[in-house]
Amino acid sequence: MNTQPDNDTFFTRRLAAKGNPLLIAGPCSAETEEQVMTTARGLQALGNIDLFRAGIWKPRTRPGSFEGMGSVALPWLRRVTAETGLPTAIEVATPRHVEEALAHGIEVLWIGARTTVNPFAVQELADALAGTGVPVMVKNPVNPDVALWAGALERLERAGITDLAAIHRGFSTFAPSRYRNAPTWMLPIELKTRFPHIPLICDPSHIGGRRDLLLPIAQKALDLDYEGLMIETHPDPDHALSDAEQQVTPQRLGEILSELKYRYRSS
Ligand code: PEP
Ligand code: MN
Repeated sequence: MNTQPDNDTFFTRRLAAKGNPLLIAGPCSAETEEQVMTTARGLQALGNIDLFRAGIWKPRTRPGSFEGMGSVALPWLRRVTAETGLPTAIEVATPRHVEEALAHGIEVLWIGARTTVNPFAVQELADALAGTGVPVMVKNPVNPDVALWAGALERLERAGITDLAAIHRGFSTFAPSRYRNAPTWMLPIELKTRFPHIPLICDPSHIGGRRDLLLPIAQKALDLDYEGLMIETHPDPDHALSDAEQQVTPQRLGEILSELKYRYRSS
């Protein structure tokens, strides 16, 4: 599942520089400037994190949950890059989000699972992203429909956006499952056969929904030659305002990363 060497993108350049896996970490949600900076410093100390993630506009299933800090958090992410050197990534769901993110120098954007399901929304984002040159990561849709995931990537590619990665965050299911979102590994593998040039990143946090599942899910992804991992990280996970059960401290993330067994590419 190697990426094509002539596909020169933010993601493939990072991968070429350090080898698999690309590591993306940071809180589910940016909550306060202090929480963001404490997380970023903890991740910087690990020495191998490629990209700092944080949600600032949070698509919550029901109203009344914490819906993110919004634009006020954008300068906090600028500070992350200024003080730690880590580039930052946020979720965007509307053209306005894209405009604001780019105005604040956010380096990488991602489309969340609840947006990938909607072709109109994806097309609006593709139009807003066209010509910006910003790298974009596309999470799988919440439902187990690989065609929607592929369709979102195709809409972006047709808009001339080629700096892309795909994120596997698991799929909703009625069936009882130990996972928050069933991994259904054959779907990302099918996507990868259709888009071999696009790096595939696993999000064990949203697949597992529980800290103790991060390691086995991440290991499975590495065994399947995924090119990256995105893991939610918070200085005080139990008190996180979103996804408290699945977040780990930067220190614990360091332990997980050192417990993983890596298969290095031979060429
Ligand atoms: C997230 O990354 O915090 C998030 C909301 O993820 P997803 O779109 O996969 O549910
Ligand atoms: Mn989350």
